[in-house]
Amino acid sequence: MKVNQAEIVISAVSKQQYPNEGFPEIALAGRSNVGKSSFINRMIQRKNLARTSSKPGKTQTLNFYKINESFYFVDVPGYGYAKVSKTEREKWGRMMEEYFQERDTLKATVLLIDMRHPPTEDDIIMYDFLKHFDSPVLVIATKLDKVKKGKRDQHIKIIKEELELEEEDHLIPFSAETGEGKDQAWKHLRQYI
Ligand code: GDP
Repeated sequence: MKVNQAEIVISAVSKQQYPNEGFPEIALAGRSNVGKSSFINRMIQRKNLARTSSKPGKTQTLNFYKINESFYFVDVPGYGYAKVSKTEREKWGRMMEEYFQERDTLKATVLLIDMRHPPTEDDIIMYDFLKHFDSPVLVIATKLDKVKKGKRDQHIKIIKEELELEEEDHLIPFSAETGEGKDQAWKHLRQYI
């Protein structure tokens, strides 16, 4: 995929602000610090369009990135950040539920999981949540470069097993550092856009 154009259109706090051109959307979900911003930047070949290492859990917005004037990446707020208050967590839950339940233009979700560790309880809940809304899921196992070559297959197997990854869902190991996995990820996502 050649990305010629990418811009952040809005950081939305309510659905009235969501774009309304009807372009297909791919949502991106993951635990804070999993490498979501780095994934977006690498996929669209921009150094800093998505902010990396911004304070986790602080921004409860849906960030819409318009790409090639034809589809959106929708960055949903990270989860699993312990210091977030109960009120914030509830607000997050409502926003997520509303988006995933009602958004007709949502075609698929990328769920990012840190490949160095087994999925967390929150990762598993998130995968189940997405399946509950019937969203096709592409699991991106991040930070591939941090896992020794000889250990990679085993880590992937554990992630698949613990998520109980369904047959139709794919997993692609990815490194924002080296760009490994980028072409496979675009190849897979192309069917939705
Ligand atoms: P976010 O909170 O999910 O948006 O995570 P970030 O993209 O900000 O990444 C969190 C940290 O992990 C940063 O220090 C990144 O540089 C680092 N990181 C993200 N992806 C990779 C990767 O593929 N390899 C390595 N080595 N570090 C990564």
